[in-house]
Amino acid sequence: MNLALINIRQLLTVSSGGRRVKTGEAMRDLGIIENAAVLIEKETITWIGRMEDLSMGSLKESDVLDCIDKVVMPGFVDAHTHLVFAGSREKEFAMRSAGSTYQEIAAHGGGILSTVAQVREASKKDLKKSGRKWLNALLRHGTTTVEIKSGYGLDMTNELKLLEAINELSEEEVISIVPTFLGAHAYPAEYKNRKEEYVREITDRMVPYIGSKKLATFCDVFCEEGYFSAADCKHILTHAKHFGMLPKLHAEELSASGGAELAASLGAVSADHLEHITDEGIDALARAGVVGVLLPGVSFFLNHAYAPARDLIEAGVPVALATDFNPGSCMSYSMPLMMTIACTQMKLSPEEAITAATLNAAAALNLSQEIGSIEIGKKADLVLLDIPNYAFLPYHFGENHVDKVVKNGVVLEV
Ligand SMILES: [Zn+2]
Repeated sequence: MNLALINIRQLLTVSSGGRRVKTGEAMRDLGIIENAAVLIEKETITWIGRMEDLSMGSLKESDVLDCIDKVVMPGFVDAHTHLVFAGSREKEFAMRSAGSTYQEIAAHGGGILSTVAQVREASKKDLKKSGRKWLNALLRHGTTTVEIKSGYGLDMTNELKLLEAINELSEEEVISIVPTFLGAHAYPAEYKNRKEEYVREITDRMVPYIGSKKLATFCDVFCEEGYFSAADCKHILTHAKHFGMLPKLHAEELSASGGAELAASLGAVSADHLEHITDEGIDALARAGVVGVLLPGVSFFLNHAYAPARDLIEAGVPVALATDFNPGSCMSYSMPLMMTIACTQMKLSPEEAITAATLNAAAALNLSQEIGSIEIGKKADLVLLDIPNYAFLPYHFGENHVDKVVKNGVVLEV
């Protein structure tokens, strides 16, 4: 035996019973065991139960971690971030508070393209250095797996620089990282009047190279009229699938553009944002079992509309939560803060928010057979929280309640 968590006040297993996701009513069932214990061998969970059923005699004292007065739950899975970037955009934040519109901010040199300019200037080493700082902060806030997108390079050289930085961090850091290629994030300034040519650059040069070098698990696109149309996105994602990358979409963020229907027809793993999804889009996601990744931090930070989370859950869409951590539209990597906003603004229950931040978020990365819940055979990624019961997690907001993180079966003091 390598690690025994004992005397756990409240264990949230978020048990899936072997299912990939939880939908509807099942999202409210956290599989709670009071006064519990969890045994871990190497990286894997091997036993879960009540303290009274645990035979303490077989445990080595040095392997025991007393979790008295602690809530223990699966590590958070942040299934949507743009975490590797350069620079910051606090000036835009102040301008928005003073009433500036997105167009005015862009006219003053702000927006995505300002981050693109800074990323192009930065070295891979610089990008890794800031990325490493953020990743440590994520772990301290209880996130044990994170997806990271490229998309601030917008040309072959700089998209590769970002993806290489992400892949190297994945090798070097303790936190698990899932890389995503997002060449279709915006049009670079040099292609402003040659948009079809940029799409061809993605499909004919970037996708084949990135796919053959296995630099990304997923390919993502920003599906929005005026950015990448549903037809462009279909073309890019079909190509990416051919080269071994699974499809994901930024869908229905600023308007209903058909991204949800496209996600369903392509068998995408997830459709993310969904602030302006239609009833037809909701139906399509539910029928195809596509995970809807909601990003309440963005709506909060930009003062935009929220996704219709209740309609999605009631229609049977597996709903996940993520931060969208990035310098422009959500400068926060706190999954518990996202849960608080989801509960107050989108009317999720605390139980639904927890399922959405763990098991369903793992499903949004195709990883829910390995992580996202505390079940025998799954990887031992857990967080210990210094709260009296799980409802305190979204309720007592603006505070980091993480006491310790167990990553791959190893206790980290955070
Ligand atoms: Zn995003």
